[in-house]
Amino acid sequence: MKNVTLVAKVDLNTCTGCKTCEKICPVLAIKIIDRKAIIDEDKCRGCSNCESRCPVHSIEMVKREEPFVVGIDVEKFDKEKIEEICMNAHMNPEQILCYCTGVRAEEVAAAILDGARTPEEISSRTGIRTGCTIECIQPLLRIIHAAGIELKPIEGGWQWYGITPTSWDLTDEVKEKYANKGFYFDEDKELFERVASARKEKGE
Ligand code: SF4
Ligand code: SF4
Repeated sequence: MKNVTLVAKVDLNTCTGCKTCEKICPVLAIKIIDRKAIIDEDKCRGCSNCESRCPVHSIEMVKREEPFVVGIDVEKFDKEKIEEICMNAHMNPEQILCYCTGVRAEEVAAAILDGARTPEEISSRTGIRTGCTIECIQPLLRIIHAAGIELKPIEGGWQWYGITPTSWDLTDEVKEKYANKGFYFDEDKELFERVASARKEKGE
């Protein structure tokens, strides 16, 4: 959930139309029209990413006259399906994925059940990825993948990121290589499986 209090404003006199902001907005709120950046203020989630990356400092974050809250009510969605998606992603539904906005795994799963198919659509619905815009993309992609959605670059491919491996993806060779260096890949997996089956038994 995110309290959106800021909105990006562009100085059209100094904007050079370089497209940097268009490429890095996590909710696709910016379009370059006639070589100028135009912000869709309703879509903007106030992350400041564009402001910090504009090479000629043409963007300023200003206070919204009417702040609003972005979030999704998980109670409105099938609890079993949320659980299934999160467990397929090897995540506890209650675990926080985005420390800037406090968005949990179950909220991302609920957004997918609500029809979101891309990181950008999930960001718009839940607020995830509108803080630092960096840290939570990996678990977000993993949940999308776990929900059976084929991840592919959106138009232009600007927001595309690959998925990094977890303990479930490593080969025996890699695990062996790090076995005596303080990594507990198989132990982590076993622990998760135990927690997952305990949740199932309790019907959580
Ligand atoms: S990054 Fe700055 S200069 Fe480039 S298009 Fe956006 S507002 Fe214009
Ligand atoms: S969501 Fe972030 S990057 Fe996109 S327009 Fe708003 S402040 Fe800029």
